[in-house]
Amino acid sequence: MLFEHVLVVGAGQMGGGIAQVLAASGRRVSLHDPYPGASGKAIATMRKSLGRLAEKGAALDPAEVVGRVELVDELARADLMVEAVVEDAAVKQDIFRRADGILPPEAVLASNTSSIPIASLAEATGRPERVIGMHFFNPVPRMKLVEVVRHPGTSAATAAAIVELARELGKTPAEANDFPGFVSNRILMPFINEAVWALHEGVAEPEAIDTIATLGFNHPMGPLALADLIGLDTCVSIMEVLRTGLSDSRYEPCPLLREHVAAGRVGRKSGQGFYIY
Ligand code: NAD
Repeated sequence: MLFEHVLVVGAGQMGGGIAQVLAASGRRVSLHDPYPGASGKAIATMRKSLGRLAEKGAALDPAEVVGRVELVDELARADLMVEAVVEDAAVKQDIFRRADGILPPEAVLASNTSSIPIASLAEATGRPERVIGMHFFNPVPRMKLVEVVRHPGTSAATAAAIVELARELGKTPAEANDFPGFVSNRILMPFINEAVWALHEGVAEPEAIDTIATLGFNHPMGPLALADLIGLDTCVSIMEVLRTGLSDSRYEPCPLLREHVAAGRVGRKSGQGFYIY
């Protein structure tokens, strides 16, 4: 088995989901999040999700899977780190710098970032050849895709190992180069932002915008509901990375998106965004 012990940093909606699929694959997981309550909430969500999967016939024992996840107060030694903290380059760079000093030199350091160039994280370490993007999708246990992002210094061996890990987790890897937003969010985020502009300018109500996308484009979910699922704070951060990284003002986040974030209405995780939960 590749990467038998994995350190997951950040126990939000993504970190919790990533820890779950790694543990369900038989791996030992150390989960670190310094914010009070975050890890406990992640474990509770994991129990619920695993319980649902077991009821539907998945061959797993929820207690055994959760038992493979250990909560740690500090960054810990492991074969692989998957970082899934807030979409903020400075916070992520600090974690990569610290992880480089703690994890053994042969360990791979991966980021679940949605948009931040991987090279900027690799620069914070002394092992750029072992730094890579491993971008899961939300909700992690259900979504099949992993976008694997190599920066110019990522070694072929590191990329091959992460592609193989994605397959071992039952996911489908797709490789992308290191541009702001990679492939997924370069396409998705401007689409979401345009839907917010349509709402902001009074083109239609949220329900109508989402119905048009679900029935008109055959999307499983409308862009405003999806933005609420992703987190409106994360959407603004990704748009800012696109605007700065691609030097193009068309990626400016819609003011309505910023207004919701400033008011703390960041989507499902706060109970309200474009919809109330
Ligand atoms: P979230 O807000 O649910 O969780 C972020 C977590 O990071 C919180 O629990 C917070 O306590 C923790 N954190 C903050 N600073 C930290 C630090 N210094 N050390 C350790 N933990 C820290 O966010 P999320 O939706 O889970 O997103 C996490 C990452 O995954 C972001 O980079 C985001 O872009 C990416 N991502 C998100 C989605 C999505 O749909 N939400 C999809 C793919 C990738």
